[in-house]
Amino acid sequence: MFANRKTENIEKEVMDALQSARRQQPYLNAVVSFLDVEDAIEAAKSSSGKLAGLPIVLKDNVLTKGIRTTGSVAILDNYIGAYDATITTKLKEAGVVIIAKSALDGLGMGGTGTNSHTGLVHNPYDLNRMAGGSSSGSAALVASGAVSFAIGSDTGDSVRKPASFVGIVGVKPTYGRISRYGIIPYASSLDHVGYFTRSVEDAALALEVLAGRDDKDMTSSFREVESYLSNLNGDLSGKTIGILGNVIDSIKNKETLEIFDHLIEKCVTAGAKVKVITMDHKLLQTCLPVYYIIANSEATANHSNLDGVRFGMQEWGDSLEELMTNSRTKGFNFLLQKRFVIGSYSLADENQDLLLRKAQKVRRLLVEEFKNTLAEVDVLVAPASSDVAPLLTDKSADQLSARYLIAENYMVLGNFSGYPSMTIPMGKINGLPIGINITAKPFEEQVMFDVALGMEHLTGCKNMVAEVIV
Ligand code: GLN
Repeated sequence: MFANRKTENIEKEVMDALQSARRQQPYLNAVVSFLDVEDAIEAAKSSSGKLAGLPIVLKDNVLTKGIRTTGSVAILDNYIGAYDATITTKLKEAGVVIIAKSALDGLGMGGTGTNSHTGLVHNPYDLNRMAGGSSSGSAALVASGAVSFAIGSDTGDSVRKPASFVGIVGVKPTYGRISRYGIIPYASSLDHVGYFTRSVEDAALALEVLAGRDDKDMTSSFREVESYLSNLNGDLSGKTIGILGNVIDSIKNKETLEIFDHLIEKCVTAGAKVKVITMDHKLLQTCLPVYYIIANSEATANHSNLDGVRFGMQEWGDSLEELMTNSRTKGFNFLLQKRFVIGSYSLADENQDLLLRKAQKVRRLLVEEFKNTLAEVDVLVAPASSDVAPLLTDKSADQLSARYLIAENYMVLGNFSGYPSMTIPMGKINGLPIGINITAKPFEEQVMFDVALGMEHLTGCKNMVAEVIV
């Protein structure tokens, strides 16, 4: 825990974190680059910031001036950040020491931790399992105890899903709450900065540091940043908790449902009102296809500048076109290439009305219904995943099943709507963690944190660390 922490020996705290991450690297493969920390330690010693001396990790799609920022794709393998992202600056001002840049599914595309150009990221609870993605390395390093705070990003569920798989807190605040200036984009209408901690209190403090208006990101909000930590109140009495019934109905795993039901019963005993809410099932099944069309179209446009000419790796060709084709073919993995094909297809003039525009209309319907659903309650909750982290070898997901379409993908509603949404651990199945997702109304992060704290008291799942056997 770092909220209200007293720092006695910054140097030792940072070197311990760095050593731990280095020791774990052959097992977790969570890091793309380790950073030199000497100057940052010196700066932290005289810092009066809220996080003075705290060792942290940044996802490798967050720009760091003069330091390699690869997005975990081959085409950017040699790219050096030209400037600091706004959150990099804010974190430095708060006194942190960045010890490493962490691996992600290339450019944020993926949910497994198996699509990084530096190889598979492993789950610290079981090295044969996925850490989830796309913020895989950051999640793994918080869960393993190397650091207690790491930055991620969330375009579909890339913070909230891995948080479930590795038993930590994962927060995606309201769209516009945290500046995205200097984050390698994926899909601009869905991208959010998110982050991981091991307690709700830490999550509340972290948002105080990260949030706020930034003139360099026109989508960032002018709203004042609240004192989330000092206002934190875990009293559940008087809170109305909505359960997303469709997700529960799509989950077949009895243990997941038992852990969830047990927690909800405890919430009722603690004074919360509970309401099961059901959204239009057919509409909810469109989440994944709508996400694919919108996210891949935006990604295709955003990444057209990665062409081997302006940035990063270049693969020679006899003409400019050939050079670009060769660079992109070599520079992107198969999954990314597939997504760019889907994006280009949806963006083609003759397909736009049928695909992109239609997906945008369905997104609007989903958001309207989601908004109405939330109007009746303080927060909406459901298991963050139907089961524990899959094995790294598992490719069996039936992508057309209700389990997959709804239970594994509904969290993208938080990106379609921009509403604040977070995952906290709710228990373990055979020693492996599983999380609950909590979503609140726009800019009601405080309500979300309050309910999360109330639940954290009931689950006892706080500061969970997986000892990586090394
Ligand atoms: N799993 C989703 C995907 O594959 C989410 C990614 C994200 O949130 N960045 O794209």
